[in-house]
Amino acid sequence: MMRILVLSDIHANLSALNTVLEAAGPVDGVWCLGDTVGYGPDPNECVERLRKLPNLTCLVGNHDAAALERIDLEAFNREARLSARWTQSVLTTENRDFLAQLPERVQIEGITLAHGSPRSPVWEYLLDLKTASENLPFFETDLCFIGHTHIPLYFCQNPESGEMSGDMIMDGDTPVIAGRMFLNPGSVGQPRDRDARAAYAIFTPESRLWKAFRVPYDIAAVQNRMRQVGLPTRLVQRLLQGW
Ligand code: ZN
Repeated sequence: MMRILVLSDIHANLSALNTVLEAAGPVDGVWCLGDTVGYGPDPNECVERLRKLPNLTCLVGNHDAAALERIDLEAFNREARLSARWTQSVLTTENRDFLAQLPERVQIEGITLAHGSPRSPVWEYLLDLKTASENLPFFETDLCFIGHTHIPLYFCQNPESGEMSGDMIMDGDTPVIAGRMFLNPGSVGQPRDRDARAAYAIFTPESRLWKAFRVPYDIAAVQNRMRQVGLPTRLVQRLLQGW
């Protein structure tokens, strides 16, 4: 059976990315749901590491769009803006070209992938039942994998009642897949659920099994690199707090 590594929001954190790739072990494919760059100190290294992976499917996220100068940085808060400008200044042409050709949403193995939501792939945050419900008409598959909120969670529509429910997904959880569902693996490089460990999921398409994982990585090393390149202190600190 196929093992697909589902990850999102790497945010230029090479230590977290390498740790996740190692922890995941051999996989048949990698689905990356966007925001490979932004916030962190290793944008080129992360893009290059991803590009070398066999069977990679990768989406563009809002921070990738910012690095590509596609969006007005006024839409970002101060720290995000500063890190986006720094990312723009260091990104190589080759890595910029890679990010520039990434799609906003994809359908693969009968699953829809989007960074934020199927309705507004780059920008919308899927964080509540109402938004999840409103997004159901915007994709054709049963399952939709999303990132963007940096929180591992699922939303599920009861096939009989049509009602939505949802919950956060903890380390080791295998949420029951039934009806139409959104699943979010959380963030590799900047978790925001008060758990500082890198988050990812392994998905088996044949059995429709989703298993969530958290893995500790060398946060101090990333923080040192962030300080060296002069990224904002608040961004340095939040890695340790996991929010
Ligand atoms: Zn993000």
